Amino acid sequence: DYIKGRVEKSGLRKWVRFNSPVRMVTFSDETKKFTVTAHDRTNDVTYSEEFDNVVVASGHFSVPNVPYFEGFSTFNGRILHSHDFRDAMEFKGKDILIIGRSYSAEDIGSQCYKYGAKSITSSYRSKPMGFKWPENWKEVPLLQKVVGKTAHFKDGTTRDVDAIILCTGYLHSFPFLTDDLKLKTANRMWPLDLYEGVVWEKNPQLSYIGMQDQFYTFNMFDAQAWFARDVIMGRIKLPSAKAMAEHGAKWRAREETLEDAEQMIWFQGDYTKELMDQTDYPGFDVEAVNQTFMEWEHHKAENIMGFRDHAYRSLMTGTMAPLHHTPWLQALDDSMESYLEVKGVAAE
Ligand SMILES: Cc1cc2nc3c(=O)[nH]c(=O)nc-3n(C[C@H](O)[C@H](O)[C@H](O)COP(=O)(O)OP(=O)(O)OC[C@H]3O[C@@H](n4cnc5c(N)ncnc54)[C@H](O)[C@@H]3O)c2cc1C
Repeated sequence: DYIKGRVEKSGLRKWVRFNSPVRMVTFSDETKKFTVTAHDRTNDVTYSEEFDNVVVASGHFSVPNVPYFEGFSTFNGRILHSHDFRDAMEFKGKDILIIGRSYSAEDIGSQCYKYGAKSITSSYRSKPMGFKWPENWKEVPLLQKVVGKTAHFKDGTTRDVDAIILCTGYLHSFPFLTDDLKLKTANRMWPLDLYEGVVWEKNPQLSYIGMQDQFYTFNMFDAQAWFARDVIMGRIKLPSAKAMAEHGAKWRAREETLEDAEQMIWFQGDYTKELMDQTDYPGFDVEAVNQTFMEWEHHKAENIMGFRDHAYRSLMTGTMAPLHHTPWLQALDDSMESYLEVKGVAAE
C-alpha cells in the first residue's frame, strides 16, 4: 500500500504487483513498448503489462560462479559457495580451504579464524590478498586438484583440508530479458553498453542500476537512479549512439589502467560525481568519501583482524559512529541484541 500510494502520488500510471518476480521482458519495435510478464505468487497467476520504460535493478550478487576442480566429485569433506555460508561455528576446529582473493574470501576466512578454525588456506588465481594474516592462515597459488582430502596447489605444495569454500564471485544473470536487452558483463568497474553506466545504449528506454563492481554503493545507486529518472522524463537529452559508445570507451580505457583498490575508489568517485553533476541530486562530498575509504583501506593494511574496531564519521549527516562495545575478535555473540547493546544496556 505504501508503494502504491507513492506511485499514485508520483503520477506514474502503474506498478508491477508486489511479490511478483518478473519472468520475461520483451520489447516491441512496432509499439515501442515493453511487455513485462510477472508471476503473482500470492494468487499463483502469470500476467503481463505494457510499459514505456523498464529499469533493471535486480542486483548481481545472487547467482554463484561455481568453478569445478579435479577431484571435487570425490572430495570427502564439504564444498560450498560463499553464497551458502551461514555460520562460521560449523568450521570450528577444521582445516579450511578458501578459493578466491576478494571480499568474500577475506570476510569468510576471518570469520572462520575468529570462531576457531584450526587452519585457513586461501588459494588465489592472480595475486595474494597480501594482508598480515594470523599464524594459522596461509595464502597459496591456485588449487590444481583434490585427491581424497588433500588439496594440491600450483606451487607444488599440498594441504589436507576438511572443507572447501568457493569465494569465487557471482554472475550477472538476467534470465527474464531477451538477448537484445541483456547486459553481458563480468563483475567490473566499467561494464560496456551502458551510457553513463546506466542507460542501455541499444535501447535507451531500458536502464540498469548498480551493475558495476562496487566501492561506492547506495549513494552511487542513488545518483544513477536520479540520472535514469531524468532520462525517462526527458530532462536529460541523450547524445548519438556513436557518442554514447565513445564516452563509454573513454571510461573503459581508464578502468583498464586501474591497479589497486585505491585507484578504483577514485575512479568510482569521479564517476559518481559525473552523474551527480547532471541532475539535481543533493550530492555529497566525493573527495571526503574517498578519504574515508582510504582510511578504511589503511586500517585494513595495518591490522586485518582489527580494522573493524575503528569508527568513521558519516559524510551525509556528520555523525561520528560510536565505537563498538567489544573488539571484533572477542565479539562472539552475533545476535542483534548483543550487537545493539550499548554500555551494558540492551537497546530498545
Ligand atoms: C556478502 C556481501 C556483502 C556485502 N556487503 C556490503 C556492505 O557492507 N555495504 C554495501 O554497501 N554493500 C555491500 N554488498 C553489496 C550489496 O549487495 C549491494 O550494495 C546491494 O545489495 C546492491 O543492491 P541492489 O539493489 O543493486 O541489489 P540487491 O540487493 O541484490 O537487490 C536486487 C533485488 O532484485 C530482486 N530481483 C531479482 N530478480 C528479480 C526478478 N526477476 N523479478 C523481481 N525482482 C527480482 C531481488 O529479489 C532483490 O530484492 C555486499 C554484497 C555481498 C554479496
